[in-house]
Amino acid sequence: MMTEICHGWPNNRLNFSHYMERSHVVIQWQNIDTILLDMDGTLLDLHYDDYFWQQYVPEQYATKHDLSVIEAKSLLEPKFKAHEGTLAWYCVDFWSQQLGLNIIQLKQDCRHLIAIHPGVEIFLNEIGGADKQLLMITNAHTKVVDLKFKNTGIDKYFDVIVSSHELGFPKEDPLFWEQLAQQEVFSPSRTLFIDDSLPILHTAKAFGIRHLLTIKQPSSQGLQRTNQGFPALDSFLDILPSRVQVS
Ligand SMILES: [Mg+2]
Repeated sequence: MMTEICHGWPNNRLNFSHYMERSHVVIQWQNIDTILLDMDGTLLDLHYDDYFWQQYVPEQYATKHDLSVIEAKSLLEPKFKAHEGTLAWYCVDFWSQQLGLNIIQLKQDCRHLIAIHPGVEIFLNEIGGADKQLLMITNAHTKVVDLKFKNTGIDKYFDVIVSSHELGFPKEDPLFWEQLAQQEVFSPSRTLFIDDSLPILHTAKAFGIRHLLTIKQPSSQGLQRTNQGFPALDSFLDILPSRVQVS
């Protein structure tokens, strides 16, 4: 499967054959009023977060506690695992306190790795001109959300931005969706939700969100995922409303 990003129809035979191998995701835009988009791994390159938690934090923890990086990783992994999918897991204050590290400062140290996935801004620009409600819904802590907005400017495309820390439940929890429906007006059957997390997509599906997509390669440095159980996007360019889509 190709890894390059295709900006429109390619102009040579090799690229054309690669193009035809791409996953074929069709959105019936006339059936969509509201678009909900995750941030990390969906709009932004997950490499930043992967590098931060899997490499940079263990290095800093090792230095602080006079350990090898391997020892630090083996101590940290079960701590991370124990809180996975909870609001605490996404909370920089929680981890600062747990690890004795200034997590938000360390996040800033790595900010050069914060990047928008190719094609995303073309898509967001186009959606901005369509008659659709566009919401970002993220589990990222508000301090991290601020850091990412400051470094990408991606917030300017959205009508509403919701952090699960404001609602009190992560997106993995059905109560997040109940709270969201109380706060925002949207019809689940006419809503498209795109997220790289499969547990979150399953919760959204159970709530009744009808149109669900995941991301084939959340990290530019990671593997392409297959058999996710949800249609997977190679690129947001594949679902541009202006593109003629053939089902
Ligand atoms: Mg994500």
